[in-house]
Amino acid sequence: MISHRQKPATPWLLIVLFMIVSASSILLGYFYYKSQKARLVKDKKLEFSAIADMKVSQIVQWRNERLGDAILIGENTPFIKLLYEYLHSKDNAVLRPDIRSSLKSVTRSTGYKNALLIDSTGMVREFYPDRDTLMSDHLKQMFPDLLKAETGILTDLHKTGQINYIHLDLVVPLINPWRKDTSVFGLLTIRIDPSEILYPLVQTWPVPGKTTESLLVRQEGNEILYLSELRFMKNSALELTKSLSDEQLTEALAVNGVEETADGVDYKGASVLAAMRKVPGSPWYLVAKVNQSEVFTALNDQMTMIIIIIILFILTIGMLLGILEWNENARFYREKYETELDHQALVKHFDYILKYANDIIFLTDRNLTIIEANDRAFEAYQRERNELIGMNLSKIRAPGAVKDLENESRILDEKGYATYETVHVRKDGTLMPLEISGRKVEIEGVKYFQSICRDITERKLAEETLKESEERFRKIFEESPISIAMTGKDLAIIRANSAFCNMIGYREEELKSLTIRSFTHPDYISGDDISLLRLVAQEIPVYHTENQYIRKDQSIIWGSATISIIRNNNYEVQYFLVMVEDITLRKKAESELIAAKEKAEESDRLKTAFLHNVSHEIRTPMNAIIGFSALLNEPDTTEEERHQFIDIIFQSGSQLLSIINDIVDIANIESGQVKMNIREMNLNATLRSLGEQFSYKGKSDLISIILDAGLPDERAIINTDATKLIQVLSNLISNATKFTKEGRIDFGYALKDGFLEFFVKDTGIGIPPEHHKKIFERFFQVDNVISRKFGGTGLGLSICKAYVELLGGRIWVSSVLGKGTDFRFTVPYEHSEKSKGKQQDKKIPML
Ligand code: ADP
Repeated sequence: MISHRQKPATPWLLIVLFMIVSASSILLGYFYYKSQKARLVKDKKLEFSAIADMKVSQIVQWRNERLGDAILIGENTPFIKLLYEYLHSKDNAVLRPDIRSSLKSVTRSTGYKNALLIDSTGMVREFYPDRDTLMSDHLKQMFPDLLKAETGILTDLHKTGQINYIHLDLVVPLINPWRKDTSVFGLLTIRIDPSEILYPLVQTWPVPGKTTESLLVRQEGNEILYLSELRFMKNSALELTKSLSDEQLTEALAVNGVEETADGVDYKGASVLAAMRKVPGSPWYLVAKVNQSEVFTALNDQMTMIIIIIILFILTIGMLLGILEWNENARFYREKYETELDHQALVKHFDYILKYANDIIFLTDRNLTIIEANDRAFEAYQRERNELIGMNLSKIRAPGAVKDLENESRILDEKGYATYETVHVRKDGTLMPLEISGRKVEIEGVKYFQSICRDITERKLAEETLKESEERFRKIFEESPISIAMTGKDLAIIRANSAFCNMIGYREEELKSLTIRSFTHPDYISGDDISLLRLVAQEIPVYHTENQYIRKDQSIIWGSATISIIRNNNYEVQYFLVMVEDITLRKKAESELIAAKEKAEESDRLKTAFLHNVSHEIRTPMNAIIGFSALLNEPDTTEEERHQFIDIIFQSGSQLLSIINDIVDIANIESGQVKMNIREMNLNATLRSLGEQFSYKGKSDLISIILDAGLPDERAIINTDATKLIQVLSNLISNATKFTKEGRIDFGYALKDGFLEFFVKDTGIGIPPEHHKKIFERFFQVDNVISRKFGGTGLGLSICKAYVELLGGRIWVSSVLGKGTDFRFTVPYEHSEKSKGKQQDKKIPML
């Protein structure tokens, strides 16, 4: 992201990081120092305790050795006796050399400076060497006590007037060897110089140190007396005293019973670490000490190193963070520079866009006075810059659009933006429709309106054209004689014209809740669906089909449909346009035409068969007539034969006549020349006669012909064309006898619903069901053995049908193949008026 800050941000994070690292380093160093110091102090205390203990034990040992020497001397009986003798004999000059040599051997031990032999009166009687011959003041004070002592005594360190060096005395009481009591007859005093053994013992230090020192002190009243020579104060032994009440003073602490290693100050006032001990069996206290400064010198050196390291570390971190920050700043300024460059380029580009924009751009003040405009504006309004700048917007508005200006600028002011269409006027007076996108802008606290105006002349023209075309489409749609419907993608009807509504029988409102499928005949829906998919996939440009549709009244109509697609700009299906032409009449005519054609073809075929058949049927009897006629002339022909031949010729002649009659009848029927001859007839009598006639003709015992007249004779006198009725019945009974080998033929009638229903029922071969209708057609014959055997023209039943219909009835057949056939026909029952009231007519009419 481009930063808009002028300066890089204060690197607080880095600063905090730096401070944390620095503080951590310092704290680490401090705690390290503390721990090191504690460890050092602990080590030093241990070390000093050990040194003090060692020195104390050495001093104690030294003192014990001295007292041991006193015991050894006191128990050396010959020597004691010698001394006794010497002190008690008057003439002791003889013994003197022995005494002196004995004393000499005593002083030979290290540190023993002088030996004095003192008698019980305190007189020094002998000595070695011969320097100090007097008993010291110190001893004089103790003398009475010494005479009572039983064992050797070691005096304290002291200095007297005559003996001006520091010493201490080992006093050996001389006990009379001959007496049982412990009476002391004299003293042997050995003067010990502490500088030879005791002081070195006290002062030596196991390792060299600059300020290490050990010293002996004892209490003297309220003071402390320094017994040994001090390292940093010459001639201080038995000279230097310090107040016992000084609580910081390590020697005072020692005298006051402190027996540990502790901090304090020494006789010079320096801070020291000191170990303090009492020397057992003596009034002495040992203090071993070192200056604190020396103890911590190494530590301080180490700490100096650590501080330097910490400082270097902090500086390094500081430097690294500084470099980081420097880099960051450099990046910031680089980015800022680049952003500035981009900004400059953008500003240039923006200026360029403004200047050469395709749209007109204005900047107006709140009073709608133009204060800036781009080049396109000058060009569009055909005005110079100085002319347009300073002009009020209302001046360039078309007169009709000025009134809207106030409202539009108010909306713009309130909402901050507005989009609207208006019309401006050029200098030459021509109008310019515009789409304006206005925005309120604030520049340095002052409000302006910025308008971007797009010339929409072409769009308006296009809209106008579109509107016109839509209107044209609407008119065509509405007024078209062809049924048109517009559907959605799902074939739901959106609009339908009145022709469509009339065709399908629904109102447009009703259709809007239906789809095309709702009234498409189910047989055609799946075919439509597949083709519509192809149409959508643009495999076919339009889809033509001839479908059946179900009208609202459930009647079925035929329609020739043309379906096309109206797509949107993205080529997606928006509507289907369905145009349907009602072709029901055409379809009907077509099917009738086809039926007629088929019928003509069939009739043609039948006629051919008929001609073929007729020629055969005529030729057969003709051949018989000619053949047997020729035989009649033969001389050898007997009379009986001649009768036979004549009979055959007669039968063949009547057969021929019957065929010709049939042909004539059908010709008459076809030409409409058949005339009805309605007259009264006695039905029952006629039927009985017919029955007899066929019974006779049949001559067969295998078939019985039974009549069942449905009315009594008096009611069976009717008005009809008797000839035609008889011809129909004869034909049917003839066929029945022809197609029945054995069994019975029932014929007769019954009165039903004002009609006489006639029947001719046989137990013959029957007719296959598919031929039940066809047998009534002219020339039709069921192709079977019997038909072939008996011949025939296939005209009989069609003549029957024609005559029955002429008589005002109908004819039909029911038959079971192999079981028999039942022909039935009706004629209106017209009871003869004349016969009414009359007796039964006995007369049987002529056939
Ligand atoms: P045809 O004069 O050749 O007999 P019809 O019109 O009388 O012609 O009969 C047509 C056909 O109907 C016959 O060829 C025959 O096959 C069938 N037919 C008519 N009557 C009967 C019947 N009673 N039993 C069986 N077949 C019949």
